[in-house]
Amino acid sequence: MLPSYCGQIVAFPCPRCGREYKHKTSLQRHLRYYCGKESKYACKYCGHKTNHEIALLAHYLSAHEDFATK
Ligand SMILES: [Zn+2]
Ligand SMILES: [Zn+2]
Repeated sequence: MLPSYCGQIVAFPCPRCGREYKHKTSLQRHLRYYCGKESKYACKYCGHKTNHEIALLAHYLSAHEDFATK
């Protein structure tokens, strides 16, 4: 999918899956570590998905602190 060309480009779309990122470094990180890979870990509270256990733990702490500390 191509972005519309009616204005300036405000995002960096992934050439593989079309997800858009505001920063080129974010897109590069996505391509390197995330794109095309299945999300192995999913948050049991909100469904947030990540490929890394560490990232999921960080998510629990930041988004569900009440649950994680029990
Ligand atoms: Zn992608
Ligand atoms: Zn969550």
